[in-house]
Amino acid sequence: MTAPDVSTPVQPTQDTPTLQQLLDRITDPGGRPVPDPATGEVVGHVAQGSATDVDDAVARARAAQPAWAARPDAERVELLQRAADAVEAAAESLAELLSREQGKPLNGPNARFEVGACAAWLRATAATELPVETVVDDADEHAELHYRPVGVVGAIGPWNWPMMITIWQVAPALRMGNTVVVKPSEYTPLSVLALTAVLNEVLPANVLGAVAGDGEVGARLSGHPDVDKVMFTGSTATGQAIIRSSADTVKRLTLELGGNDAGIVLPDVDPQAIAQDLFWGAFINTGQTCAALKRLYVHTDVYDEVCAALVEVARAMPMGRGLEEQNVLGPLQNRAQYDIVARLVDAARDGGGTILIGGDPDPDAPGNFYPTTLVADIDDENALVAEEQFGPALPIIRFRDVDQAVAMANRLDVGLGASVWSSDRDAARDLAARLEAGTVWINKHGGVHPMIPFGGHKRSGYGLEFGVEGLKAVAVPQVISG
Ligand code: NAD
Repeated sequence: MTAPDVSTPVQPTQDTPTLQQLLDRITDPGGRPVPDPATGEVVGHVAQGSATDVDDAVARARAAQPAWAARPDAERVELLQRAADAVEAAAESLAELLSREQGKPLNGPNARFEVGACAAWLRATAATELPVETVVDDADEHAELHYRPVGVVGAIGPWNWPMMITIWQVAPALRMGNTVVVKPSEYTPLSVLALTAVLNEVLPANVLGAVAGDGEVGARLSGHPDVDKVMFTGSTATGQAIIRSSADTVKRLTLELGGNDAGIVLPDVDPQAIAQDLFWGAFINTGQTCAALKRLYVHTDVYDEVCAALVEVARAMPMGRGLEEQNVLGPLQNRAQYDIVARLVDAARDGGGTILIGGDPDPDAPGNFYPTTLVADIDDENALVAEEQFGPALPIIRFRDVDQAVAMANRLDVGLGASVWSSDRDAARDLAARLEAGTVWINKHGGVHPMIPFGGHKRSGYGLEFGVEGLKAVAVPQVISG
């Protein structure tokens, strides 16, 4: 993931809200308690939105949209820049809240990194242009392609990168003259409500609304007749429900869904040299990342060395409470996800896999901590390979020929990302072209960049985010001909 260096805390200024001030703005003392996944302590209380709250938020967004779209583009650019300033001013408090609610550590590619990426994406979106295209200009015809706002955008997100994914949805939508209603995950509502509160310090009223709640609230928003476009990031199953409900109103959709990314390691690599990048490709955000490396296919010639090098890196990475500065890995965000990881590692063990490290959680310890786990000698059919683990457990599968590796990588019905690891860049690029994934990285995995389009293949979804393509995704093309 490309973002500025945000590992150093931003120095507080007079305008910097404390965490308590942020919480006071967004919490409802009578609301549902939101637990810290590392300790079980209550982080804050969140009001549960109702269907009426969704309807009201959509009505406000609808009413605000024409005036927002009528502003000169330069004003929206300026406001996105100021929104980035506001995020940076509140960065340390936002990071602390994110760490407490999501579980991810402050340091490493985690909470401070995520907040820094929010500001970076706001600025990049403000700096991206989508000019009118002249498509035909000859003696008989002059035709131009313009991009108009869609209207009201519903933005529904998951719990793994709650702030960053909200910005990915909100920033381009606002830039193109849409208004937005956000529905955060029920697991991480406070992070998203705090972020939208900070953005609303600079945005005009009702351009950006948010309603917390569960899947029913999400369904109300995604099926709402007055919502013109849904930006959804989450599981394939929920994406399928949203596709069905979009039919009645022919709603436009961008769907970033689940993945089970394969990485293929060719025999010409230096195992020591790639081990750190392989590790973070798989274990970023403690494995709770859509486009993380979830199945590692390693050529038999370097298999043992790659496994040994990964174990060495894994051993050196401290896992623990996110607020403790030394940690770079945290808990699973929720118990349901912990149970999925535990079940899949058990299936791997039962299927004859060799646990190289981890696989031995203490079920009575506080928090949802599952140890960093590497499993070797595992069958490609094993559940830990075939299902998305979305947590800190990586299966490492041995292969003998490249065609076999490609067949295994492509055999699943999802295709978000993939990677090829080789010292021969041309050979890696040729292999990349054979993989069924929205992005194929070479000698890295999972890096996203605000100017490089990102989207899925197969059941990992459709539509692109980021850059010019991301702006087009929240606009309606209009041809003016004559
Ligand atoms: P989820 O689908 O359970 O929930 C996502 C959001 O959808 C939540 O806000 C939830 O309340 C809402 N929702 C639930 N039912 C709904 C319905 N019927 N209609 C509308 N909204 C509804 O996903 P999750 O467990 O929060 O996230 C994990 C999944 O997300 C993983 O599969 C992961 O791979 C995927 N993910 C994908 C990307 C990507 O960019 N492709 C990024 C992050 C996560």
